[in-house]
Amino acid sequence: MPELPEVETVANGVHQRVHGQTIVSVWTSNKPQTFKSSPEEIAEVLTGARIDRVHRVGKTIVADLSRKGGTKSARPGSPGAQFLVHLGMTGRLLVSSPETEVPAHTHAILTLSGGKELRFVDARRFGRLSVTTEVYGGPGQEPLTISNEDFIALFRNRKTPIKAALLNQSLLHGVGNIYADEALFHAGIRPRRQAGRLTRDELMRLRAALVKVLKHAIKLGGSSVSDYVDAEGVAGFFQLHHRVYSRTGQPCRTCTTPIERIVVGGRSTHFCPTCQK
Ligand SMILES: [Zn+2]
Repeated sequence: MPELPEVETVANGVHQRVHGQTIVSVWTSNKPQTFKSSPEEIAEVLTGARIDRVHRVGKTIVADLSRKGGTKSARPGSPGAQFLVHLGMTGRLLVSSPETEVPAHTHAILTLSGGKELRFVDARRFGRLSVTTEVYGGPGQEPLTISNEDFIALFRNRKTPIKAALLNQSLLHGVGNIYADEALFHAGIRPRRQAGRLTRDELMRLRAALVKVLKHAIKLGGSSVSDYVDAEGVAGFFQLHHRVYSRTGQPCRTCTTPIERIVVGGRSTHFCPTCQK
């Protein structure tokens, strides 16, 4: 599943290619699972709207839309409307030339004034498309910009393991399994430790590690552990830099102790029993 760095990579890639363009027409597959807003509403809001900015909120890609002529109605599509794309497990957002063959499992095609098409492709259909008139804020706090004090406050009195708390999207949004494991490794904290019992110093270390790991992954274009590709179809390669994730039994890159795998909160979890306390 794409995590924060992959989603950010896709959002940035799409932004660079489509911002400032107007959506000329919209085609949708009308497969019910994919459309959180009805396909009719999506087409109505998107057609004729200008894409001002594409960015990431949590793990959701958000396109800010505006319309020429200002407020015509309070309906979606008036200034402030947003198009939300959640990639789910296998969703991809591609900017393609109309001549490029439309891949199987394409669920939406937005024809743009610049001549390209923005396509949403999703084989397993856990991805979601919707439109909203309220500014989408996501369920939790943004891990890249949260302050130390707010970060520390998130985990106060939490009895769950820190690994599970990091994955709790209502606390921090966008952190998934890979980056939770990697951040805990870099902070030297075992994943089963009770979140509420971590010291201030440990939590400050964890916040710094999380930011470092996420920013590094964004710089490298995200991980491509599934069939994730960025907006141009180039696979990211952060997985080459994983220290613990998916490295069960392999030597720790810091101390050579074999990496262990446990299950925390139902999720596969990897750590170094020597480097993490
Ligand atoms: Zn180690």
